[in-house]
Amino acid sequence: MQRRQFLCQAGATLAAASTVGLVGCTPATTRPGGSAAAAVGTHLQTDDRQLAPIHAQIDRITGVYVCTRPFRAAGPRIEMERLGEKTVVHNYGHGGSGWSLSWGSGTLALHMAQSTGATELGVIGCGAIGLTTALLAQRAGLAVRIYAKELPPDVFSMRASGLWTPDSRICQATHAPALAERWEMMTRLSYARYQSLLGLPGQPVEWIEGYSLSDAPFGKFHGDVPDEPEYGDFSDRVGDLTPRSVELAPGSHPFPEPYVRRYTTLMFNISSYANYLLNEFRAAGGHIEVREFHQPSDLHALPERTLVNATGYGARALFKDDSVIPVRGQTARLIPQPEVRYGLRSGNISVVPRSDGILVQVIGDAGNFNNPDTTPHREASEAAVRELADLMSQMRRG
Ligand SMILES: Cc1cc2nc3c(=O)[nH]c(=O)nc-3n(C[C@H](O)[C@H](O)[C@H](O)COP(=O)(O)OP(=O)(O)OC[C@H]3O[C@@H](n4cnc5c(N)ncnc54)[C@H](O)[C@@H]3O)c2cc1C
Repeated sequence: MQRRQFLCQAGATLAAASTVGLVGCTPATTRPGGSAAAAVGTHLQTDDRQLAPIHAQIDRITGVYVCTRPFRAAGPRIEMERLGEKTVVHNYGHGGSGWSLSWGSGTLALHMAQSTGATELGVIGCGAIGLTTALLAQRAGLAVRIYAKELPPDVFSMRASGLWTPDSRICQATHAPALAERWEMMTRLSYARYQSLLGLPGQPVEWIEGYSLSDAPFGKFHGDVPDEPEYGDFSDRVGDLTPRSVELAPGSHPFPEPYVRRYTTLMFNISSYANYLLNEFRAAGGHIEVREFHQPSDLHALPERTLVNATGYGARALFKDDSVIPVRGQTARLIPQPEVRYGLRSGNISVVPRSDGILVQVIGDAGNFNNPDTTPHREASEAAVRELADLMSQMRRG
């Protein structure tokens, strides 16, 4: 991808606060509330010039993590299937949006499960989707048991970036019209639920600000990764949900790039958030059983007649569903710096200031689509950290 294109993408996604897909540069005039509607900053936010430096050193990398986004061209599979005596409600295939959409997606799945008259529910999977669906079901009065071969911190969901990205790699553009309404419903439901998770001990969810940096004006480009399909971009539909981003005038920020946008977005401190979800589930009487299923018929052994299948990428093997495509993603974490409160998107990197580590992600790189390889490539993360160090060294201080 051309640097210019990619930076624009950065502007339209993270700057957008949030409706953050992988693609998304649309004309500034077309978005009601997202990035493209960015206002030009008329006043300075003092913080813009006083950002704490990130200690971007490769010897501060605490871990390099890889996972596969469970992408489906048509979007998440949320539907019921009869399996002999059992009803299985599928809830998988959320691409790069699983955390963001989880509460909305779980609500749809729960309504389907309730339509069977079930009072007991088995949830297969303990990632973002399984945990939130299980909690919603408990709150609706069902007795819930989670079955999963791995639990946090060993599930793929724990390796996500932790941003509000409800339309990131959520479907292929050609399928977007069919998904749009359901996506919007899930997004609005999730967003509302996230507001009730703010201000909790351990800050599982919080608002942050961040900066998209570009060497070219933010404009109308599509930042597609060359070997990936064009993805659905739904940001226009929910532009009213999140604060507008603001373009900062040259000289009003410390960055070397001439074009800078400040965005405001929700961030999930995933370690703390997953811990919160697990504790809530257990405190409400939920049980968790570590168990692996190899084929759908294994589910007959479970006592619950209604099940939710929240196995993410695992659904590809378990249900032989080749429509689930792995899209590889890699992040590195640096030693946490509580004083760093801002995100960044610049060049080939994205930075998320999580409480469990400053997350540095390579973005826009090729070779990830339909790539199930979860071997970490440390050299790629080291290069990203060096790029960040270079940016830090060029920032004006004071
Ligand atoms: C690099 C990267 C960054 C991302 N960043 C974000 C982000 O910022 N925001 C966002 O919203 N999303 C993000 N995502 C996407 C998000 O991580 C996924 O959409 C989400 O994790 C999917 O959750 P899940 O619960 O469906 O799957 P998983 O987390 O994979 O959970 C699946 C569960 O099912 C279990 N399971 C699977 N197969 C079986 C089996 N056969 N038997 C028993 N149990 C089984 C597993 O053990 C696990 O418990 C990112 C993804 C990547 C790769």
